[in-house]
Amino acid sequence: MSAREPGFNRARRHWLSAAGIGAASSVLPGLSACRRAEPGGLRPDVQGGWVGAHADRGHAWRDAQTPNAACAPPRRVHTLIIGAGVAGLSAARTLMRAGLDDLAVLDLEDTPGGNARGHLVRGLPCPLGAHYLPMPGPDATEVAQWLEEIGLIRHEHGRWVGDERHLCHSPQERLFIPDAKQDKPGLWRGQWRDGLLPQQGLSADDLAQYRRFSQDVSTASRELGFAMPTFKRHWHAGLAALDQQSFAQWLSKQGYTSRPLLWLLDYACRDDFGAGLGRVSAWAGLHYFASRHGFELPGQGEAHDAVLTWPEGNGWLTRQLARDLGDRVQTGQVALQVEAGRHEVAVQSWHAGHQCRHSWLAQRVILCIPLFVAQRLLRTPLPPLQEMAPRMAYAPWLVSNVMLTTAFTDRPGMPLSWDNVPYTDEGVAGVPMPSLGYVDARHQSLAPATGPMLLTHYWALGGQDATQGQAMRSALLKGSWQDWARHVLADLSRIHPDLPGLVQQMDLMRYGHAMSIPVPGVRGHAALAALSEPHGRLHLAHSDLSGYSVFEEAFTHGVRAARQVLAASGMARRMA
Ligand SMILES: Cc1cc2nc3c(=O)[nH]c(=O)nc-3n(C[C@H](O)[C@H](O)[C@H](O)COP(=O)(O)OP(=O)(O)OC[C@H]3O[C@@H](n4cnc5c(N)ncnc54)[C@H](O)[C@@H]3O)c2cc1C
Repeated sequence: MSAREPGFNRARRHWLSAAGIGAASSVLPGLSACRRAEPGGLRPDVQGGWVGAHADRGHAWRDAQTPNAACAPPRRVHTLIIGAGVAGLSAARTLMRAGLDDLAVLDLEDTPGGNARGHLVRGLPCPLGAHYLPMPGPDATEVAQWLEEIGLIRHEHGRWVGDERHLCHSPQERLFIPDAKQDKPGLWRGQWRDGLLPQQGLSADDLAQYRRFSQDVSTASRELGFAMPTFKRHWHAGLAALDQQSFAQWLSKQGYTSRPLLWLLDYACRDDFGAGLGRVSAWAGLHYFASRHGFELPGQGEAHDAVLTWPEGNGWLTRQLARDLGDRVQTGQVALQVEAGRHEVAVQSWHAGHQCRHSWLAQRVILCIPLFVAQRLLRTPLPPLQEMAPRMAYAPWLVSNVMLTTAFTDRPGMPLSWDNVPYTDEGVAGVPMPSLGYVDARHQSLAPATGPMLLTHYWALGGQDATQGQAMRSALLKGSWQDWARHVLADLSRIHPDLPGLVQQMDLMRYGHAMSIPVPGVRGHAALAALSEPHGRLHLAHSDLSGYSVFEEAFTHGVRAARQVLAASGMARRMA
């Protein structure tokens, strides 16, 4: 998984030096060290398994299989936050800073962070999900304020400058271009190229379409207004028209046919939204570029490409957010039921460790969970939630951390980079959509790069339509970890045939409902906007409220909901 649009900006810096590509070949030793495995094969001695998610807990409320014994007498808190993802943690932090520290944050998993958690494979840190945060744009003021506070960025000469230790080190991204002549089926010959913008063998028409798309993004940005977080801009008919059609439909109407351009746009959608351009709305497809720095062509303008990243991905950020909350964060606690009364809200949760129920009574509850979960928890239906929950579509994802005993034999063209992406539309047997490639989890490590190699392989499985997405979710949830490890190895070994022989351990994280896909009709729906308003003693904050999921959206919803709680509690003047 790669940086969003800034990655493409980065790529353009190397466009003009394309003639030099290939000179920096970096063929690593390692082939002799490998044990035998069929290409894509999983050796029986490889350790691994599913990690990170307790699907049984997630389904506890649905299946009502939880015992009824009470753990303790009901507990009162002023504000109860359900969900310790980015939104829940940022809400808690905002309340604490304003002096409202009578709060608890419940999460069903054993560690806070939600989709932005880190993991360890044999002591080495790696991401389980989200792994980078671009330098904040002009509308992400709440995020920027926090990053400044924790010393990650500073304001210099009117712009944000990131701390070099946490900005992605060079080389940042490379694209593997398979050769038309294959060695044998399932194996690719080819070379790595710098950046993610396909640059090889472009026709005059491809180049013209790149330029036209760049202009369309600039025009949309200037005339329609896109922001991240998206709720900071007024929603109007022009945006609604884009939201009513798929990105694929819009591109076709505009006469875009260039294969490299369409690959790039499809990759961008899979990368940020978890599904292809046939599924996401034209609003989302344009928002990806227009809410940041546009689709910049090779050789144009300044690079606006900096991203902050860590070996454990955004788990580093959520650890910072959770740091001052102490035991206010209660993990292993599955919220089962929420009943909003006139004077307080009653919440039931199930303690997975103690196998018993907790009762909570709160003045205010902030629901920082996906909308489909929120709808099921509420005893009294919330009309806009009933309207929206069935409309939401969620992308399944697979994130695999693959530890190798030593470095694989690399292909020529570019050295190992932070993000390594194959330029292909082809999946592997059993998985029709291509992967997003892999991230070198040790890239940001300041330790010498010797010893094992740790790769984080990303696969967004939302597909090009709802049927494909649903089929992938079933396959992901039904398959064994070994089945999916084989798919991942089949994917990786197309580029690195010796890689399966070097694998020591594979830790796989599967998400059935990883992130909401901005399908047509979701972002612009009035009920979605209504959910950002307070509903009596209930408040909602989750990236779902933006119709798609990135750190900036989740964080800002958390701050917004916390400010509503403070205002309702007469503490508005103390807002952070
Ligand atoms: C594989 C992957 C890669 C990603 N990469 C990036 C990236 O690089 N950069 C980026 O900006 N964004 C990325 N994202 C998007 C990411 O989802 C957001 O950045 C952000 O982490 C979303 O936070 P959230 O609080 O909205 O939701 P979530 O992370 O979904 O948090 C919701 C929390 O609620 C908890 N919960 C759910 N039900 C219950 C219940 N009944 N009781 C108690 N707790 C419950 C969950 O356990 C979870 O912790 C990625 C997402 C995925 C899945």
